[in-house]
Amino acid sequence: MNIDQLRKQFPDEEACRLFFESILWNHGRSCPHCHCLKSYRISGASVRRGL
Ligand SMILES: [Zn+2]
Repeated sequence: MNIDQLRKQFPDEEACRLFFESILWNHGRSCPHCHCLKSYRISGASVRRGL
């Protein structure tokens, strides 16, 4: 993979972050403590993206 391909695949931070999330949670998002699958994306205008 060269830098042009990399740029195409990850045009912005969001695309990059989603890629890592898909690796981290390839079986769905789960709790690292009890492995339950119920978790919630924190949302709202003041929230830092990715949290
Ligand atoms: Zn849990």
